[in-house]
Amino acid sequence: MQQFQHYIDGSFLNAAAQFDSLDPASGSVWAKMPQATPEDVTAAVDAADRAFNAPDWAQMTASHRGKLLHVLADLIAENAPRLAELETRDTGKIIRETSAQIAYVADFYRYYAGLADKIEGAHLPIDKPDMEVWLRREPIGVVAAIVPWNSQLFLSAVKIGPALAAGCTVVLKASEDGPAPMLEFARIFDQAGFPKGVLNVITGGPDVGAALTSHPKVAHVAFTGGPDTARHIVRNSAENLASTSLELGGKSPFIVFEDADIESAVNAQVSGIFAATGQSCVSGSRLVVHASIKDQFLARLKEKAEEVVIGAPDDMQTEVGPLCTERQRDTALDLIERSLAQGAKLITGGQPVEGEGFYFQPTILDCSEARNADSLSHEFFGPVLSVVSFETEQEAIDIANDTAFGLASGLFTQNLTRAHRMIRAIRAGIVWVNTYRAVSPIAPFGGHGLSGHGREGGLQAALDYTKIKTVWLRTSDDPIPNPFVMR
Ligand code: NAD
Repeated sequence: MQQFQHYIDGSFLNAAAQFDSLDPASGSVWAKMPQATPEDVTAAVDAADRAFNAPDWAQMTASHRGKLLHVLADLIAENAPRLAELETRDTGKIIRETSAQIAYVADFYRYYAGLADKIEGAHLPIDKPDMEVWLRREPIGVVAAIVPWNSQLFLSAVKIGPALAAGCTVVLKASEDGPAPMLEFARIFDQAGFPKGVLNVITGGPDVGAALTSHPKVAHVAFTGGPDTARHIVRNSAENLASTSLELGGKSPFIVFEDADIESAVNAQVSGIFAATGQSCVSGSRLVVHASIKDQFLARLKEKAEEVVIGAPDDMQTEVGPLCTERQRDTALDLIERSLAQGAKLITGGQPVEGEGFYFQPTILDCSEARNADSLSHEFFGPVLSVVSFETEQEAIDIANDTAFGLASGLFTQNLTRAHRMIRAIRAGIVWVNTYRAVSPIAPFGGHGLSGHGREGGLQAALDYTKIKTVWLRTSDDPIPNPFVMR
């Protein structure tokens, strides 16, 4: 059976204990993963702290850091098929998606490689004639990065890329569900030529995450996961007063007006809710559709949902694979049952797929007559769409904003002026107009409310891994006058 190791201080290490990793397609154990102990966490953070202060990293030019990130990007591109296979095996995410996504992950590292020597300070026009004052942007320190199981290579690239570009060092805790791609990523990283300890990769569950995020040497916690865990992270950061960026869940509205290109909107909705088996933080899980086209839209959507190819995640023909864990499958079933009891109507699906593995049917629930159904407010993180119809533009806005989350949103209309009004009115970190689920290293990504705070991707993300040092330099050779007057 395949065994994976931690990556600490430039070495691959066996852990004292291991845990089983299940293949979501069969539900059986396929590999052994290292279980980090508190000592492993300390060793990883100490290694990152030493690396942060060691001259070979601390004094490396930003351009050189950029070159190393370029080498890493090339290595990821070369090894993308192998990483994709591993992610598919360990998390059940279909090979079609992992292959495309991991090839694109290399571009995220390239973006931050290019950005490394463009992180600039500033010179201030200070109000004192004998002073030069400028701002240095310095790396924030040791970063604890915590990711969930879905899209780990992508979700870690938007942390590791900007953090290393800025000159930080990183301890990454891979999810205890499906950590194989991250542990293998460490082997690829090791070949890129970074000094040892610049990146450390460990795995384990909540205890490991808690020890890491509360460690006194951690300066910033970059977290992706659910809102409940985020509350622990914020509490943990009371120990080290680390800054935090939180990328959490969503209950994103997908709004379709009567003038929309229906076929295009249906396809985008299918991608928005059934791709990645719905295990996407930006999944368009609330369809908000104009009453006049609801029946037509749902009929087409039902047809498409029932045609979806459910199958083995490593088969290129498969469109919907298994959920990553049994827990996810049970959560989906439980939420559906509650919502049906609350008045939601089942349009299609609603059940796990019979047989082995954690498969679940693409599901549509009409909640137009059950506006308080839990399925409209709770994140499934599975292939379950909840539908509500509206009559007026204001009603569409009210339904869209009736959520504690605020991550993504989709808007389908041909009416330009209405699109602009809606863009302003929707409370979400991302608005996709006549498209859905597009990402790029150049475009910031994140939300507010229960969806968290901070942005990943784009220039600002790299600046978030820096702190400002204000430098005052006196240009006069005269002796300092009255020592009791503040200058
Ligand atoms: P989770 O919050 O249960 O776990 C996420 C990570 O946090 C895991 O690595 C876990 O081990 C760790 N963790 C758990 N308890 C901890 C603690 N007390 N201290 C520190 N770390 C701890 O999330 P999940 O169920 O694995 O993933 C699904 C969630 O992630 C969903 O809510 C989803 O929307 C969200 N998500 C958000 C984004 C985004 O970019 N906004 C992307 C993907 C997933």
